[in-house]
Amino acid sequence: MAKTREEFDVIVVGSGAGGGVVAGELAQCGCRVLLLEAGRHLKSADFRRWEAKAKHDLFWPTRFAPLPGGDAVAFLAGRCVGGTTTINTKVALRAHAQDFAKWRAATGLTNEAGQAFSRADLDSYYGRVEDLLGVRERSDWEKCIYTVQAGFRALGADLEPVHSYTDANCQRYGSCLQGCPNDAGKSTMNTYIAWALERGGLDLRAGARVERVLIENAPGGPRAAGVEYVDAAGERRVARAHCVVAAAGALATPQLLRRSGLRNPAIGRHLGLHPARLVYGLFDEPQDSHRVYPISAHCLKFQRDEDGGFVMEASTVMDPIAFATTLRDERGPLWGPRLVEAVRAYRRYCGVLAMVTDENNASVIVEADGSERLEVDLQPRELGRIEASLRFSSDALRAAGARTVYWTGLLATHLQGSCRMGDDPARSAVDRNGETHEVKRLYVADASLIPCTLSVNPSLTVMALATRLAERLAVALMEEPLSA
Ligand SMILES: Cc1cc2nc3c(=O)[nH]c(=O)nc-3n(C[C@H](O)[C@H](O)[C@H](O)COP(=O)(O)OP(=O)(O)OC[C@H]3O[C@@H](n4cnc5c(N)ncnc54)[C@H](O)[C@@H]3O)c2cc1C
Repeated sequence: MAKTREEFDVIVVGSGAGGGVVAGELAQCGCRVLLLEAGRHLKSADFRRWEAKAKHDLFWPTRFAPLPGGDAVAFLAGRCVGGTTTINTKVALRAHAQDFAKWRAATGLTNEAGQAFSRADLDSYYGRVEDLLGVRERSDWEKCIYTVQAGFRALGADLEPVHSYTDANCQRYGSCLQGCPNDAGKSTMNTYIAWALERGGLDLRAGARVERVLIENAPGGPRAAGVEYVDAAGERRVARAHCVVAAAGALATPQLLRRSGLRNPAIGRHLGLHPARLVYGLFDEPQDSHRVYPISAHCLKFQRDEDGGFVMEASTVMDPIAFATTLRDERGPLWGPRLVEAVRAYRRYCGVLAMVTDENNASVIVEADGSERLEVDLQPRELGRIEASLRFSSDALRAAGARTVYWTGLLATHLQGSCRMGDDPARSAVDRNGETHEVKRLYVADASLIPCTLSVNPSLTVMALATRLAERLAVALMEEPLSA
């Protein structure tokens, strides 16, 4: 069947933290934007606390990367309009100065003045995102937080309120991972994208899977000219644009660039996992940690690498299916009567999410047959942090009064770094503006950009970087319109 061709100023691939922001910001500037999203466009009225269905409708199937000894890391990411922001817990934190300090060393990244790229280079963009999403402090703690806080204090640490992009209508249903049923949680779906659709200028196509970026030869070297995608009806289409922004997430963007013929060795390498696990304490009294805003507090005492290199968030339990299928202790995964007994006490758990700053030793590889392979190669220092974070979380729960402690295997929900930005093309995939070193007018605007794993939840940084890119693209498009 003949391919249908269309023309835009910008095509954005993926509608999550990065893509949703770039598309919304550029549409607001008057650019003609096509936003292609592989997942469905579901809205708050569709979101029910039906764990299995939400997993099917809103997430990519869970991927696993093997670890030595038969264990594995589970990778979670959203597949829907709004991407992972539609199903995440919406903690909104600016990265620590120490996080930025690693970027120059990793990739030679500088700002426009030739100085090391620092938090000051992002602060105004952080501010814009925080204002638009209404980021606020969550000090509306429930009983389970106070239960856990006692344990942290007993060990000389403490919990403090997080900030999040949730408004005052948050009913603390606890169902963030199934999409917010009353739009109190601000995803890019119900903010940037919804606003742009209302105003006009944004053409959103859900169920549209982009297969490759079209690259053509031009006098200054190869440049992006559009994309080829399969639409929701299964029809293969071509859309053309002045530039293409890849924002398909840290697992899919490197694969898209490889499928499009890019060869830079940094593409797909240096993947950071921010490896995390939930640690659950079983208490005598009901805690109802499943009916709270899942993450209202965190402990930053060990945030800096020299202090431990991990952060803990409280207090959350996964919904019943995920809870029951991931519990383990020193003897391994729970099974049979022990599992039944553990799950029966569901209301009596408090959970601590322990997240470790890793050193970007994972990779996304596209095999010769086009299939994906994930490789994780955790080094002793990273393993030491993972172990220390489990030990401290477990001790804090016991100090708080937990009779038994269980935990999950490693989860990777904060994927980043697989097309990292830098001045040095030998160590980075894109430049300081997100443009690939190999192909002009092809940009990356998602978590893949982050040169080294952050010590905090990454989405606010992804959105700030995307805002910065949108500002630069808007100027570039004004200077060099589509006809150029
Ligand atoms: C359960 C969970 C909880 C989290 N909680 C928090 C939190 O509280 N705070 C925080 O800061 N971070 C949190 N995160 C992480 C955060 O949401 C991500 O870091 C962020 O959304 C990444 O943005 P992104 O643009 O890189 O990718 P995404 O937001 O994942 O968006 C990528 C989009 O691209 C689409 N896509 C992929 N391939 C294609 C293709 N070929 N064609 C078209 N579209 C495609 C995907 O379907 C997806 O919609 C959480 C993550 C998870 C999984």
